[in-house]
Amino acid sequence: MKLSLVVPCFNEEQSVIPFYKEAVSTFDALGYDYEIVFVNDGSRDGTLDMLKKLLDGPAAVKVVSFSRNFGKEAAMLAGLENAQGDYVSVIDADLQQHPSVVADMVKILDEEPDVDCVAAYQEKRDESGFMSLCKKSFYKIINRVSDTEFVDGASDFRTFRRQMVDEIVNMKEYFRFSKGIFSFVGFNTKYIPYTVGERVGGESKWNFTKLLRYALSGIISFTTSPLRIPLYLGILFIILSLPLFIVLLILHKGLTISAVYFVGGVILCSIGIIGEYLAKAYIQGKNRPVYIVKENLSNRK
Ligand code: UDP
Ligand code: MG
Repeated sequence: MKLSLVVPCFNEEQSVIPFYKEAVSTFDALGYDYEIVFVNDGSRDGTLDMLKKLLDGPAAVKVVSFSRNFGKEAAMLAGLENAQGDYVSVIDADLQQHPSVVADMVKILDEEPDVDCVAAYQEKRDESGFMSLCKKSFYKIINRVSDTEFVDGASDFRTFRRQMVDEIVNMKEYFRFSKGIFSFVGFNTKYIPYTVGERVGGESKWNFTKLLRYALSGIISFTTSPLRIPLYLGILFIILSLPLFIVLLILHKGLTISAVYFVGGVILCSIGIIGEYLAKAYIQGKNRPVYIVKENLSNRK
């Protein structure tokens, strides 16, 4: 099998059939041996019924259906684990990422043996100035505090060689942050620009708060630097406290209350940071599965 397409789907009843048609017309024309691995991430609409219909079509299709919504990260992992291709692509179901770009990625992997992964990045971002500023700041922060490199604008839309897929699947962490995992495993990634298309149907599952939580979780998963903030603040306060004490003594001013609030706030923040890591370590310690499969269907043996 040359190529597997891994397609995470959450409430994509309007997208999966147009996606299938585009994929089949793209790859049949190229004449490769390929399969499409759809992961139904606990959709609450008719996605699963649509996917079951696709099992009767001409292409090799697998449908891995979760018992509930576990999130795109879990869906990607399940897809990678079930993919058999020598090359494996991760692509969204909504046709914002076009299968023809996958064909370009495959061509690069065929022609350049030293490239292990081809990742697409968004050339033009169709979003508000505020959103784009937030994303830029996120990459600035995470690249400064983490040893793992994060490329601004690079998406999950990628094609990997088999060896890299095996290493990604081997990362057994519960809190998965793909951009970090892809970069952590190393190998040689080539970045190519692509233009994001219009969604064929349905709506985006991301909003500002979800993205912010995802970003924070990414930072916590890939660096322990924030744990050092309380230490540095502590040292700063010890250094500042003596001159401050002298000044307050001279001024005879009742600044005690504000100082108590301030220091209290700092201590609470510090405990909060430690709590975030502790919570993640606690859940990871339970060794819970990243996802649970309810049905696993395929139209090939
Ligand atoms: N997705 C998923 N589980 C989720 C949320 C999203 O599998 O909990 C899938 C979704 O069906 C789509 C892809 O992840 O195929 C990207 O989601 P979306 O298009 O909503 O994100 P956007 O393109 O707006 O960033
Ligand atoms: Mg989308």
